This record gives sequence, structure tokens and C-alpha cells, in this order.
Amino acid sequence: MQNRDFIRDKTNDVLAGLAVTSQEAERLLFTDDLMTLAESANTITRAYNANKVDVETLLNAKAGSCPESCSFCAQSSFYDSKITKYPLLPTEVVLQRAQTAKEGGASSFCLVCAYRAPPERDFQQICETIAEIVNKVDIDVNVSLGFMTRLRARKLKSLGVKRYNHNLEAAESYFSKICKTHDFADRMNTAQIVKDEGLELCCGGIIGMGETPQQRLELGFSIASLRPDEVPVNILVAQQGTPLSQVPQIPGEDVIRIIAVWRFIMPKTILKIGGGREIHLKDMGRLALKAGANGLITGGYLTVGGNKPDKDLRMIHEIGLHT
Ligand code: SF4
Repeated sequence: MQNRDFIRDKTNDVLAGLAVTSQEAERLLFTDDLMTLAESANTITRAYNANKVDVETLLNAKAGSCPESCSFCAQSSFYDSKITKYPLLPTEVVLQRAQTAKEGGASSFCLVCAYRAPPERDFQQICETIAEIVNKVDIDVNVSLGFMTRLRARKLKSLGVKRYNHNLEAAESYFSKICKTHDFADRMNTAQIVKDEGLELCCGGIIGMGETPQQRLELGFSIASLRPDEVPVNILVAQQGTPLSQVPQIPGEDVIRIIAVWRFIMPKTILKIGGGREIHLKDMGRLALKAGANGLITGGYLTVGGNKPDKDLRMIHEIGLHT
């Protein structure tokens, strides 16, 4: 079967509710007909998610000094990355940032902290902050605090947190190359706790860390097995001082390919282009939103800057989509 016919066949299968196999996903990933792949991923996106783009703003509410060894991360205490480190931000500062995110057009605000898991005192302060935001700002509140217990997940749910972010980061077969202080099963466990306790799950990963294209698919299938509501696709921004600082940049076309194929694997989720978009995709960011992605993070990331929200909102409207 010609590549184009194969892609269209698989598109019809996905639209009919059928899953793609790993062999089929691999054939899609390596197709020589990238335009048909992108258009088909867009067809699936529009069928299940219409024209809406989910725009999120992040706040790094506690930066650096994390005891974990994730080799892509400038916030790990294992590496001398020269980022600005600071303890947990006071409630009034976080509240102000949530208000600014709302005024900038974001539909959700994600409070992120660099911990393995917050110490109890910090967790209590985070809970008070969440309660303030939920009461005073009309925005979806998401959080990312590292490893979770059932009790804490329940508490966050009771406060009105909508979604909890916990990425798998890398394929299981590659995970030991990027982290020594915890393993893939630890990450799956927290993701499962989040689901079990009724929070929405945001769970994605990072591509361009030296993994093979097949490992990107492996990661996609592991994420899909958790049935997440949202999947961030981050692209490594090699940070000075980290072990991955010299990893060659992944071509923008490879990013488009994996976004498109993850859309076939996870037809209904919010597939969000995360960190690295502005550096690796440049103007292909527009194409990504017409090739399977239906979300983006605006206003910068945890340790690197990003586009201003008005620039991203303009781009979304220019390509006929809306927030
Ligand atoms: S990715 Fe998260 S857990 Fe890993 S070092 Fe960075 S902040 Fe810590």
C-alpha cells in the first residue's frame, strides 16, 4: 500500500475509534509523506477537539535545589547550572501571577515547584495558596509538585485543583540514562495515584535527549496507557552545566513527526507543545498546531524564556484557531 493510502486508512481507523499498533505507529513516523501525515493528524485533532487551543501559563514557584538527578534539568542540585534558585514564593506573589495569567488570556495556570516531594510545611503553604487562587481568580489551577501520596492528591482535589502534572520524561528503556535517583516505575506510580484520586492527569515527556525515534514512540504508548487528559511534548533545551548540555539539537521536522504520530496514538487528549518550542520549531510552531497539537505554554518555561502571550494568541487566531 502507498504511504498516502496507509496514512489515510489509519486516520479513518482512529476516527472510527480503533487504536494504532506500535508497528503502524512506526510506519507513520518514518513516512516520506510528511504533509499527509500532518494533515491527517490535524483532521483527527479537529474531529475530537474542534478548533480550540488550550493556552497555559506556568509559574516556577520554587526553583532549583532539587535532590533528584534528572540529567536534562537545570534545577537539579547535582549540576552547576547557574540558574536563579529561590525558596517557595509567598502566596500573594503567586496569586498576583495567576491574576496576570488570566488577564493575558491563559485558560489555565500551572504552579510548578522543584521538589522530589514538598516538605509538609511547604505543602501546607501551597494548599493555602491554591485556596486563594481558586477563590479569587477565574482560571483553572493545575499543579506540579513531584511525587504524590494518595492523601495529598485527595487534599489537592478537595481544594479545587483541576489537573496534576507529572511527566514520564523518557521511555522506560531509556530512563536509566537520564536519571539515577528514581526510576520509571516511580513516575508511573504517581501518575496512577493522580488518576485514582480523581484529578485530571497531565503527563508528557521530553524528546531530543539522545533517545531513538522508536523510544519516542515507546514513551508515547506508555503515556497513552495512563489515559491522560493532557500531554505536554517538551523538546530538550540543552542547559549549560547539565550532562545533556552537548546533545545535538533535534530537527524541527522530527518534532512535527512525533507530535503527529502521538496524535494518532492519543486522538482525544490535549497535546500541548511545551518547552523548547520557540527554539526548535520557530515558525514551525504554527505547523505543529495544524499537525496534531492543540495546546501550548505561553510566557516562558521553568528555567528558559518563551514568547509573550499576545504574540502566541495572535498566531493562534491567524491560523484560524481560538482559545
Ligand atoms: S525534573 Fe523535576 S524531579 Fe527532576 S531534577 Fe528537575 S525538578 Fe527535580
